[in-house]
Amino acid sequence: MQTKAAVVRTKGEKFTIEDVTISEPADDQILVKIVGAGMCHTDLIIRDQGYETPLPMVLGHEGSGIVEKIGKNVTKVKPGDHVVLTFYTCGYCRNCLAGEPLSCENAFPFNFGGRTPDGQCCIHAGDEPLGCSFFAQSSFAGYALSYERNTIPVDKSVPLEMLGPLGCGVQTGAGSVLNALNPPAGSDIVIFGAGAVGLSAVMGAVVANCTTIICIDIKENRLELATELGATHVINGADGNVLETIMELTDGLGASYMLETTGNAKVLESAIYCLKQGGHGGIVGAPAMGTTINMDVNFLLFNRHIRGILEGDSNSDIFIPRLIELYKQGKFPFDKLIKYYTLDEINQAAEDSENGSTLKPVLRLT
Ligand SMILES: [Zn+2]
Ligand SMILES: [Zn+2]
Repeated sequence: MQTKAAVVRTKGEKFTIEDVTISEPADDQILVKIVGAGMCHTDLIIRDQGYETPLPMVLGHEGSGIVEKIGKNVTKVKPGDHVVLTFYTCGYCRNCLAGEPLSCENAFPFNFGGRTPDGQCCIHAGDEPLGCSFFAQSSFAGYALSYERNTIPVDKSVPLEMLGPLGCGVQTGAGSVLNALNPPAGSDIVIFGAGAVGLSAVMGAVVANCTTIICIDIKENRLELATELGATHVINGADGNVLETIMELTDGLGASYMLETTGNAKVLESAIYCLKQGGHGGIVGAPAMGTTINMDVNFLLFNRHIRGILEGDSNSDIFIPRLIELYKQGKFPFDKLIKYYTLDEINQAAEDSENGSTLKPVLRLT
């Protein structure tokens, strides 16, 4: 299959749009005609080699599209189905078998390794093999090859082009609240960062009926949107003492729930101290590999819980259709985060995402 793809060739350099060949689907693969592909912070981390993955590579891990063709072992979807592509887990390691696929022991090589899970290259530029199968999809391209495990059939009544971000960023934010932290109705929660993940967490907190939803960012336009989406209090991190304000808003006790989405180690270092005794905090933001923080051990010892959360702890086959239903009922307006670009505008999309003027770029592939 001939198509166009955005390729990262050199660390930190711009994406180049190239003619590529996508292989025919293997027995367990699904060929998807990509309609929309969200851009996530992780794509840019890889472009800049904060995670060392082989280059050149076709990135993109929030694809939505239409099933074009299936391998002979595929039964979950059929040509014509609308699908969202998400992260891949192996299904056979100890953690997957124990029912903990978010802790899949093969998650890193299979999502970031640049080859299909069985070690093949399925995207070529002429004779040159490219890094492929990023999150078992590489969806910054006209077509992508995915698998039953990361292909989620979705409702055809919702515009397909907007659904890709449900496969990573939106599911990560909303799921961190609804699946991982799971605050009871009436709870308070503090969300650091009002990017696409943080604002998805704000919407998740509204769905969970949290009654105090505090959102912190340094950009006023994002804080305004946080308020529009249901944050009860917003704090500009650039002025004043954030922790003091949080204490005032939580009866001097600190927050029951906290989510750090900025990936800024200094923010995390301070965010931990907003938790009350017995409180639960989640780390979602990803800095470069090797980043460390300082922490007061005794503060944590007094029964405060901090955990890392991947992909919102989501069982995507169940969670993505739920988010779509919430969207249809007007309870999860994630479309407010999206701005569309063409594939040719991918570098502009990346720039707008990095300077904060666009929350969630989605590339239209048709
Ligand atoms: Zn596994
Ligand atoms: Zn992502």
